[in-house]
Amino acid sequence: MRVYNFSPGPSVLPLPVLEKAASEMTDANGTGQSVMEMSHRSKDFKPIFDKTESLLRELMGIPANYKVLFLQGGASLQFSMIALNLAAGEMPGKGKKVSYIDTGIWADKAIKEGSKYASVEVRASSKDRAYTYIPNAPAPSAGDAYYHITLNNTIVGTKWNKIPDTGSVPLVADVSSCILSEPIDVSKFGILYAGAQKNLGPAGTTVVIIRDDLIGKAPAWVPAMLRYDTHAGEGSMYNTPPCYGIYIIGLVLEWLKNLGGVDAITKLNREKAELFYDYLETSDVFHSPVEKPFRSIMNIPFVTTEKDEKAKAELENRFVKGAAAAGLLNLAGHRLVGGMRASIYNAMPIEGVKALIYFMKRFT
Ligand SMILES: *Cc1c(COP(=O)(O)O)cnc(C)c1O
Repeated sequence: MRVYNFSPGPSVLPLPVLEKAASEMTDANGTGQSVMEMSHRSKDFKPIFDKTESLLRELMGIPANYKVLFLQGGASLQFSMIALNLAAGEMPGKGKKVSYIDTGIWADKAIKEGSKYASVEVRASSKDRAYTYIPNAPAPSAGDAYYHITLNNTIVGTKWNKIPDTGSVPLVADVSSCILSEPIDVSKFGILYAGAQKNLGPAGTTVVIIRDDLIGKAPAWVPAMLRYDTHAGEGSMYNTPPCYGIYIIGLVLEWLKNLGGVDAITKLNREKAELFYDYLETSDVFHSPVEKPFRSIMNIPFVTTEKDEKAKAELENRFVKGAAAAGLLNLAGHRLVGGMRASIYNAMPIEGVKALIYFMKRFT
């Protein structure tokens, strides 16, 4: 029996994708091999790689002057690579000025890592109200090498609804937990990056979408593996790319295209999120801690209304365990924020959200 998996990542994948991968496990496309066994430079793997890239370009409407890179190291390595490539000085140490907006734990990690190679200015933060909203974005400082935001904040459950206008300063965004969940106008960004394990496929692949003019800016001391020019110059094949992950992403993109693409999934995602938030509004037991205009449609944290701290912890623990016993998995909030969280990525069917609401209505 399949469970409903509300994990924030790695997370649920579409069942047809898993079934297709299973059917091709030992013999993909009549090659007599598993995709895992193929040379990344072989004629058998090339069409798999090309299909994944062209589907991503098609579904996201990626303009021709952007490269798509399939890298490793997770979104977390991009926290370093962005600063190393766009802002590092001629010698190791603090380089050019850059702006960041602090909207939660991932944004904060990006800031800490970026600060090792760039002169970071945190232009706005929502830390004062426990990251339950998105602050107004100030204009970039003159001469900023880039401006960084986290488009969807996976842990606290907020999202940017309006993309800041940064003029000629390249806007860089972490889209790990919202890529392909709603339309993104790629042309407004210099770089978009995402770990695959939320909305794209299995862990181990990182997708970077980068405008051509931002490639080739890293100083000479930056290691080859950490340079965008290395990977762009070799078509993501400077070294062995995460081949099997790229193959699964291709299957996920194919599934999404058959469903009707980003417009169709956007409608479905909004319907799922609305259903859940509407229920939270009417519940006497649970509520959303996030301010209304900024609520994520991918990650929905919720807490009980219990005031007593000890009783609250017990109640929430009992909830998470009871839900798991009912086949509703991974509903505990992030270890740093507590409470509960339902991650309802593209692959979570609406039936899963309905089953969760059904369980919550009966939980006392
Ligand atoms: C999960 C996540 C990350 C970390 O991704 P890794 O691939 O584990 O490095 C970074 N940013 C956001 C917004 C995330 O959701």
